[in-house]
Amino acid sequence: MTATRVLIVGGGVSGLTAANRLREAGIEAVIIEGRSRLGGRIHTIDVDGTDTSWVDMGAAWIDDHKTNRVYQSLAVAGVAVEPIVPGLTNTRAFDEREAQWLGRVRTVLTMARFAWRVHRLRSTATGFANLGDRIGHLLGRKPKRADEYLLKTTTELLNGGPAERAHANGFSADWEFLRYKEKTSVMVTGGYRHLVDVLSAPLSDDVIFLDHNVARIRVDGEDGETSQVVVETTDGTTFEGSHVIVTVPIGVLKAGSISFDPPLPPTKRDAIDRVGVGHVEKVALCFEHPFWRTKANRPLHFFSIPDPIAPHSTFIDVSETAGAGPGSAATPCLVSICATKTARESAEDPEQALRNTLVALERMFPDSYEPPLATAASNWSTDPFSRGVYSYQTSETRRGDYTKLGQSIHGGRVLFAGDSCVDGTYLSSVEGAFESGERAAVEITDELAASSSH
Ligand SMILES: Cc1cc2nc3c(=O)[nH]c(=O)nc-3n(C[C@H](O)[C@H](O)[C@H](O)COP(=O)(O)OP(=O)(O)OC[C@H]3O[C@@H](n4cnc5c(N)ncnc54)[C@H](O)[C@@H]3O)c2cc1C
Repeated sequence: MTATRVLIVGGGVSGLTAANRLREAGIEAVIIEGRSRLGGRIHTIDVDGTDTSWVDMGAAWIDDHKTNRVYQSLAVAGVAVEPIVPGLTNTRAFDEREAQWLGRVRTVLTMARFAWRVHRLRSTATGFANLGDRIGHLLGRKPKRADEYLLKTTTELLNGGPAERAHANGFSADWEFLRYKEKTSVMVTGGYRHLVDVLSAPLSDDVIFLDHNVARIRVDGEDGETSQVVVETTDGTTFEGSHVIVTVPIGVLKAGSISFDPPLPPTKRDAIDRVGVGHVEKVALCFEHPFWRTKANRPLHFFSIPDPIAPHSTFIDVSETAGAGPGSAATPCLVSICATKTARESAEDPEQALRNTLVALERMFPDSYEPPLATAASNWSTDPFSRGVYSYQTSETRRGDYTKLGQSIHGGRVLFAGDSCVDGTYLSSVEGAFESGERAAVEITDELAASSSH
């Protein structure tokens, strides 16, 4: 075999984790990253540039944090978290049709009923064409607007895809890899960027190649001892190695912007086609005062129910985690999140999305509204290095597709990792990305151990 050198395409959580595990095993690994930064779909920005308004434009929550390995890595490094989740007593709903806030009791009941219904979505039920069909059945013939909005929007925010395209069982607790119990949901004080810092700290600069946009992955020679992988970038730079771990997001794989030579086998190509890619975008806003709160010191989340019902913006009060660290000064910050068609439009025209967000805020808070100090908008859908957010199960997705996405090809020389390549763990999440990176690294170390024992 040629000397072991692993090329890792992508410097998100999965690529960084694989690089660390290989480095610990004494194996040379380089990261080839298209953007000028590490972290991929983790991207925390200081919205007003004063070190007091850190907001996550990508991944934000850690679910079931006590058993979540991502949280464990952060806790060891002394990073703090805050429970931030819309819930029963800290959330309000505004009905745009009636131009009024819904009473708190009504909101509480709606949320409670919603949670109960979602937990009852089990895959044993049949006869629904898609998730939208199933939600319609749950809602009955004359649904309350708040019910309809919550059930549809929440599932669409989690999936990123329209309910009418999603698998009827795609949101059930027993889809093959969805095991979160959602007992806790926390955000990282100062942002998820701390995880990128933790994961990149052990890696030296000379193994990280930023601004290297990979266009082609080639395998030379027969599978086995003599084959070699070559990664080519759009500017003609080439990297040679014994293995490549491809960690680019599902949106990039679906877009086909990296060509494979020989081509990907039909089983993998078909699985890529059948899995859906979601669209979620965020607008971050920071203000002088938290004018939306009913009690100045108490975070308040809210959502605005549009007419007609659409996956519109949900506003999360993220002021508690906006400071650089625990106890640091923090600017009042809101994040508005939208999904599916609204998200695609937002990515196409972030300035219009911002204007829409401000109009919505002014309508909800005509007496207390104040203009923001600074704003930012994401564009995951149009960004060539993500082309969407994360995968979801469409009506075409089959059990086993995610396993196929994670399977290596060409005799184990071309491996796949990332949040859509998780086998038995947490799909479309940072923890899934982390575990997939470990799995790919272990596949290589196991192979080397087996070949050296022969
Ligand atoms: C808006 C949003 C909200 C989210 N919310 C949560 C959440 O609350 N909790 C949670 O756990 N997860 C959340 N996620 C998902 C989470 O961000 C991802 O699961 C995780 O970060 C994926 O890591 P990864 O390493 O698999 O992929 P990525 O982080 O996408 O890393 C892949 C890397 O490949 C690079 N790349 C792509 N194409 C090329 C190319 N041609 N050449 C070279 N490099 C390339 C990219 O630039 C990127 O750095 C969210 C994601 C988004 C976008």
